[in-house]
Amino acid sequence: MDGAIVRTTLSLISPGVLFVFSIAFVCAWLLERRHRYLLLLASACALFALGATSQILRWPPDAGLNAMISGALYTAAVIAAAEGILLRSGKPLGLGTDAVILIASMLLLAYFFYVDRNLLARIYIQNFGYGFILLIAAVRLWPLARGRNVDRVLFWVLLVFALHFFPRTILTIGFSAPVGTETFANSVFWQALQFSLAVLGAALAVAILAAAIVDVMDDLRRERDIDPLTGVLNRRGFEERIAADLRKGGFGAGALILCDVDNFKRINDAYGHVLGDAVLKEVGRVLCKSVRKGDIVGRLGGEEFAVFLPDTCPGEAFECAERLRIAIEKIGIAQPGGTARITASFGVGTLRPTDVWSSLYNRVDARLYQAKRTGRNRTIADDTPSLASAGIGRPS
Ligand code: GH3
Ligand code: MG
Ligand code: MG
Repeated sequence: MDGAIVRTTLSLISPGVLFVFSIAFVCAWLLERRHRYLLLLASACALFALGATSQILRWPPDAGLNAMISGALYTAAVIAAAEGILLRSGKPLGLGTDAVILIASMLLLAYFFYVDRNLLARIYIQNFGYGFILLIAAVRLWPLARGRNVDRVLFWVLLVFALHFFPRTILTIGFSAPVGTETFANSVFWQALQFSLAVLGAALAVAILAAAIVDVMDDLRRERDIDPLTGVLNRRGFEERIAADLRKGGFGAGALILCDVDNFKRINDAYGHVLGDAVLKEVGRVLCKSVRKGDIVGRLGGEEFAVFLPDTCPGEAFECAERLRIAIEKIGIAQPGGTARITASFGVGTLRPTDVWSSLYNRVDARLYQAKRTGRNRTIADDTPSLASAGIGRPS
């Protein structure tokens, strides 16, 4: 086979890989269509691949047109990549800024082709330009450097990718315009630069794809573990969170509060299921609002809620449950026939050294049952001798 054909075929590998990345981003988007930044990243890969293909195949054959079209595709690709990464973190530059960058770079490229023909100037404009756009993106994403591993990797790969455009461009100083486009494009030096671009570009694409997959997995996990009605953890999410921490010995001391709305069936029967749902939402909101930041709130099912209080002694846990009980007593949901009021019963138990999730839950559930049996709208705790001896927490 002719050497030129072999070289052209090999050169097409990089754009081919980018097309595959483009398809991978579209597939990731199909999994979770809310993540529109994935479409921007898919376009970035496709645009860059098209730009490279048009340059490699020299289509259109007219040198000026080719320089302008491939330049526009490359620039649009870099802008789309930067915007995609920024949009993922909710910090896009905006369409106006994107348009200004694209038009300015095209005007400069046109000037240095048609007015003052200068290959080196065009190389500088494109490479420094791409470096700056990606550097701006990296600076805006600085908080990611202290985030999760996947975000940290993404930040540093982006930064290195942005910075590499500067030495890369400066290295081309040895090649002044008289060398000519053809000779320059075929030089080992230029091929090596193209290779480094492809390798770093692929590393960036892999880093973004990994971050995107983690985003999608996080979303799925959230959907699996969150109760859609109240927005607190569902039974699965709550139990998994507590059990995992218990296994790790994460809680030195801790307490579990179980809360069950009293006579909730009557609320449903009297006011309807929709109002019943509104009551549950309000209970979830009141519980979340009334606990400390590190406390864990969940809805274990129906009208039963749970709160786990890490590092909490028995007295504090009882006080917290009483505070929650009084807050629930104050809930009033207005509806045509008057205001619906509710109460709830509470069971409280503190963690023992031998406890696993089921033993703790069963003990506290027994206290909740006791609270129901002895009149409702009350808190019964174990391990509260001082409070119990003072008559607090016992059914009256
Ligand atoms: P107790 O004081 O003994 O707890 O009585 P209760 O009526 O609260 O308890 P019971 O277990 O008899 O009834 C619970 C009711 O909660 C029955 C069920 O229809 C209702 N419920 C369960 N989940 C939901 C929900 O998501 N929305 C609404 N509106 N009602 C629900
Ligand atoms: Mg109930
Ligand atoms: Mg119940």
